[in-house]
Amino acid sequence: MDNSATTALKKEVVTEMLPYLTENFGNPSSIYELGKISKRAVEKAREQVAGAIAANAGEIFFTSGGTEADNWAIKGVAFANRQKGKHIITSSIEHHAVLHACKWLEGEGFEVSYLPVDEYGLVSLDALEKAIRKDTILISVMLANNEIGTIQPVEEVGRLAAEKGIYFHTDAVQAIGHVPIDVRKMNVDLLSLSGHKFGGPKGCGALYVRKGTKIGNLLHGGAQENKRRAGTENVPGIVGLGKAIEIAGQDFEARNGALLKLRDRLIEGLLKIPKTHLNGHPEKRLPNNVNVVFEYIEGESLLLLLNARGIFASTGSACNSSSLEPSHVLTACGVPHEIVHGSLRLSLGEANTEEEVDRVLELLPKAVQQLRDMSPLTPEEYRTC
Ligand SMILES: *Cc1c(COP(=O)(O)O)cnc(C)c1O
Repeated sequence: MDNSATTALKKEVVTEMLPYLTENFGNPSSIYELGKISKRAVEKAREQVAGAIAANAGEIFFTSGGTEADNWAIKGVAFANRQKGKHIITSSIEHHAVLHACKWLEGEGFEVSYLPVDEYGLVSLDALEKAIRKDTILISVMLANNEIGTIQPVEEVGRLAAEKGIYFHTDAVQAIGHVPIDVRKMNVDLLSLSGHKFGGPKGCGALYVRKGTKIGNLLHGGAQENKRRAGTENVPGIVGLGKAIEIAGQDFEARNGALLKLRDRLIEGLLKIPKTHLNGHPEKRLPNNVNVVFEYIEGESLLLLLNARGIFASTGSACNSSSLEPSHVLTACGVPHEIVHGSLRLSLGEANTEEEVDRVLELLPKAVQQLRDMSPLTPEEYRTC
């Protein structure tokens, strides 16, 4: 139940990768046949990625994952366009790969506006329009949020950016395989994606860069990736990414329809627990995302109870065990601080079944009650002892 954190490698993806982990180990830059085999495999994957987002193969550059793609898009555009201006607009609910890259740029003399969101996590186009200045060089707004699943009006953001001649980057890491993407229709200049979020391998992603976009390099070295991204290519990773994105485009409607049914079954069941609220947008939402907050409990404790019962999930209360900061996403949505620590994210994958959903719906209310009975914060009427 944590497919937004990562997904299992698909069997067909492993099969496709295996030869490039064994006999086909050539370096794509080598001119002899073994190298050319790798080169051809990388170029095939480039076509597969381009095909999935309606781009041209020459506009796809492989990276070490979503984090590198986000960093490259933001820092690369910032430095290449700093003569024109040093102002960047993003949203307050971006992934840390975007937010922390922006924070770092602030230390380098750039100015960043962080757009607020409404209670559902939606960025207001009005606020965006007002934030645009003469020296704005980049807008970065994610396609779908990784915590609450809210899908942003990216096409409208793109139209606004294009009208004003500002570059537009979108982090589409969570959207691939769930939201149809057409970079031309969406007026996107840069788009990040990551293999392990849709059945591909970890440590491999891509950045789409629209032809003609002024962007500097993040990594310097060899002439790989058309001189844009140095470093010997992760050939098996790239091959796996290409196959995974191709599969993610197949049976699109049926797969997402099935996820949607499971999602809504979960949401409906969870909201029957008293003092439980849905986070994120009820409709403009990824078909695999469930995020709720239970009053009077700690998300961390709930995760431990679920873990003991073989259910793996995630909470926004602490991004990792060393931080007790509440989720910046839920906080930006205005979830009150007294209850923000009681959040739970369940993110579905195609391997999840109705039986599993029902098992969660059987165990979760008991776990929540167990914690509420232990908590000094729980009012009398919500206790069983
Ligand atoms: C996972 C994720 C990333 C980071 O991708 P990695 O490949 O894990 O570095 C970036 N943005 C979003 C929205 C994500 O969900």
